[in-house]
Parts: sequence; structure tokens; C-alpha cells
Amino acid sequence: MAYVISDECTSCGICASECPVEAISMGDGKYEIDPDVCTDCGVCASACPVEAISPA
Ligand code: SF4
Ligand code: SF4
Repeated sequence: MAYVISDECTSCGICASECPVEAISMGDGKYEIDPDVCTDCGVCASACPVEAISPA
């Protein structure tokens, strides 16, 4: 289980700066969540202004 970023993402970068374990990074032209690092805390989902992040 991990949170995932949908195509609604506008690449604002807020989630990456809010994630306490630095699980979010810019991958191949878009932001991605590393499922091996994500602790399912939900902080990124709350921080995203366009609600692009949800539990997988
Ligand atoms: S759910 Fe928490 S640990 Fe996982 S990517 Fe979002 S902020 Fe980081
Ligand atoms: S906060 Fe939302 S819109 Fe901004 S980079 Fe993260 S997923 Fe994309």
C-alpha cells in the first residue's frame, strides 16, 4: 500500500516538500511516490491543492 499521484497533478511540488520521509520526487517528467518509502501518513493528500493524491 502507498499513496499514488494521478494525472490531475500540476507538478506544483508542494507534496514533495511536505512528505516527512521524502518519498515523493520528480521522476520521468512527473512527481512520483516511492511505495517502498511511503508510510501512508496522508500528509501529501491533504496538502495537494488539486486533490491529485489518494490511497492506492
Ligand atoms: S502518504 Fe505520507 S509518506 Fe506517503 S508520500 Fe504522502 S506524505 Fe509521504
Ligand atoms: S501537491 Fe498535488 S499537484 Fe502538487 S506536485 Fe504534489 S500531487 Fe502534484
